[in-house]
Amino acid sequence: TIGMVAIDANGDLSGACTTSGMAYKLHGRVGDSPIIGAGLYVDNEIGAATSTGVGEEVIRIVGSHLVVELMRQGYSPEKACKEAVERIVKKGPERSKGLQVGFLAVNKKGEYGAYCLQKGFNYAVLSEKENNVLIDGKSYY
Ligand code: ASP
Repeated sequence: TIGMVAIDANGDLSGACTTSGMAYKLHGRVGDSPIIGAGLYVDNEIGAATSTGVGEEVIRIVGSHLVVELMRQGYSPEKACKEAVERIVKKGPERSKGLQVGFLAVNKKGEYGAYCLQKGFNYAVLSEKENNVLIDGKSYY
């Protein structure tokens, strides 16, 4: 998946999400990426979130919507992403072993964060102040 969330100079939020799906997927399978609320969700009052990984697990918790709602309740983007991943694990501890699933989010203040169940998750940040790659939340450059 390539998921992007953005905040512009006016403070307006947006997002986009695209994927080739999963390897060896069943013909006709629809993952989380094209489903608003699952693979992507933007609420211009609160924040934007997107997901990557096994879409069925993300759909099960309406993951990106959950991340935005958690930010509405005051969670930081990273904490909201972590909570969503933990909810997936809680719902299916057996299924979650070795599972790849993660979220990326930005809030209305421009704060961002991500969390992935697997180590090595990386994402890029570009702003007036920052041009960076983060791996497991740590700055690469
Ligand atoms: N989330 C995608 C899907 O389930 C897979 C991916 O991360 O590319 O279709």
